[in-house]
Amino acid sequence: MTLRKKWTNSTLKNKQCSQCKKTFPRTDEYFYCTPHRSSIGIKNYTAHCIACDNKRCAEYKLKNHGKKTRQDIKYRESEHGYFKELWAGIRKSKHGNNFKSEQEFLDCWEKQKEIYGLNCPYFPWIQMTRIRGKGKTTDSNISKDRILSTMPYGPKNIMFVSWKANNEKGNVTPYVAARYLEFVEGNSYCKKVTEFELSCLNNLHTRRWGEDIDIIGSIIDNVKHDEELRNKYIDKLRELFYDDNMEH
Ligand SMILES: [Zn+2]
Repeated sequence: MTLRKKWTNSTLKNKQCSQCKKTFPRTDEYFYCTPHRSSIGIKNYTAHCIACDNKRCAEYKLKNHGKKTRQDIKYRESEHGYFKELWAGIRKSKHGNNFKSEQEFLDCWEKQKEIYGLNCPYFPWIQMTRIRGKGKTTDSNISKDRILSTMPYGPKNIMFVSWKANNEKGNVTPYVAARYLEFVEGNSYCKKVTEFELSCLNNLHTRRWGEDIDIIGSIIDNVKHDEELRNKYIDKLRELFYDDNMEH
């Protein structure tokens, strides 16, 4: 205990922030402090004032959070990242999982791709996507669907369909679907509306199909000079015809 007045260097009463160059009292209200390396009771203050430090932290967070999210979305939108997420969903699913491994699950997707490519099996005119980071589900995105909603996920009970098809199919069972079709067949109003809607769909599909052939036809015409390129496009055209025969 001492009554002696503590000597203070007046120039040390205040401290200038090295960032904003403003002068503040040298206290921990204005500067963060770190304990002195060797002496007890002596405070070391940071060069930046607290206001500047807060600002720096906020800017860093903003910049790097954005970077992480962009990288994250890019990964989740890749085929690898997207299917990892679908697989994680199956493993955690309350509906059960009969897959032996992630590889068995991925093989199912490869098999489906051989037949349908990226097109939705229910709505072939929908090219399925892997869009992430929109905050809501995208209708064209790939979703995993159990063919029989009463059975667990497994190699014999999975399809990859657009979200739109998945939502419309819901939990319908083959029994209910068959009964439903009977009721539509037996109701002349519902039958007529359905026939009309189907004819609209067919028209839509045929028109798209015609456009594809026109585009490729004109390309073939434009690459007459390059036989190799021309043959490639003719193969593409054959492929289109072949796909069409498969569908009908
Ligand atoms: Zn400052």
